[in-house]
Amino acid sequence: MLCLGIEGTAHTVGVSIVDENCRVHSNLQDMYEPLEGGIHPREAANHHAECLIHLLNKSLEEARKGFDDIDLVAFSQGPGLGPCLRTVATAARSLSLSLGAPIMGVNHCIAHLEIGRKTTGCEDPVLLYLSGGNTQVIAYSEKRYRVFGETLDIGIGNLLDKFGREVGLRFPSGPAIEKLALKGEQLLSLPYSVKGMDVSFSGILTAALNLLNQGQKLEDVCSSLQETSFAMVTEVTERAMAHLEKEEVLLGGGVACNQTLRNMVECMAEERGAAMFVPDAELCVDNGAMIAWTGILAYQSGMRMGVEDTQINQRFRTDDVDIGWR
Ligand code: AMP
Ligand code: MG
Repeated sequence: MLCLGIEGTAHTVGVSIVDENCRVHSNLQDMYEPLEGGIHPREAANHHAECLIHLLNKSLEEARKGFDDIDLVAFSQGPGLGPCLRTVATAARSLSLSLGAPIMGVNHCIAHLEIGRKTTGCEDPVLLYLSGGNTQVIAYSEKRYRVFGETLDIGIGNLLDKFGREVGLRFPSGPAIEKLALKGEQLLSLPYSVKGMDVSFSGILTAALNLLNQGQKLEDVCSSLQETSFAMVTEVTERAMAHLEKEEVLLGGGVACNQTLRNMVECMAEERGAAMFVPDAELCVDNGAMIAWTGILAYQSGMRMGVEDTQINQRFRTDDVDIGWR
């Protein structure tokens, strides 16, 4: 079975062709970069619409397949930015209808978890999902992926990007902040906001900018920003692992590319006799392959969708999906 997956929840539009063994035949993406400021949803959606035809053709070409070979069309149904989701859903519906192939809407957060589970070989992990818009600690329990902790305001990637924008770094700023942080020499005090199993980042952003205004070095603020926010999510993840008695932690989302974060989570895992798993970078960031693979899992579990079931859901909750494949 060959599935064509389309991702488009935020700044990245991706098209990928994946088979039932999770062999990735092609996995292409293009990223919308705002000229200034943050993501403008309508502009991002226009970007996706402009890129999609090219990505579709190139994806088939790279996979050496034709449209006729596609058995299933999967797309990111949410959560995400409305205009981006609608653009991708429209493309998926037209493909499905014109090819006569079934369609499957996929929850983006679950897709991060499933591609990680399949490609890293972990079985029943706690997923620490850290991306631009999302920050969640997710694990499987009784037929659902449940959220055990999450951000109460902005995503952790958003924290880094917003901070970066204020200090004149390019979007997305995570990688540049990581580099600057390596030269940090002292840990500055920032609000450590863990509330129960949830975290909040907006106060840290304000406090970090205040530190700069007070004359602290950018490198020190960057390393303190990473140290504090990463420690918060690591703490919540550890607590989830302890309560759920899970021995695997899986990282996902663009922020999982960060080596300081990986070191911190790995250290936590090792200290409790658990193991950390990280997918390859191209499968950590938003990508079509994870959508295609999760589409295949859902389809093979017997799930079916008519076009009337493919409305997008900007606030699609991770725990809204019945998991028929576990
Ligand atoms: P995603 O939304 O999953 O595609 O991930 C995008 C987010 O990941 C953006 O907020 C980036 O700033 C962030 N990101 C990418 N690479 C890194 C890195 N090396 N360190 C920290 N954040 C990163
Ligand atoms: Mg994502």
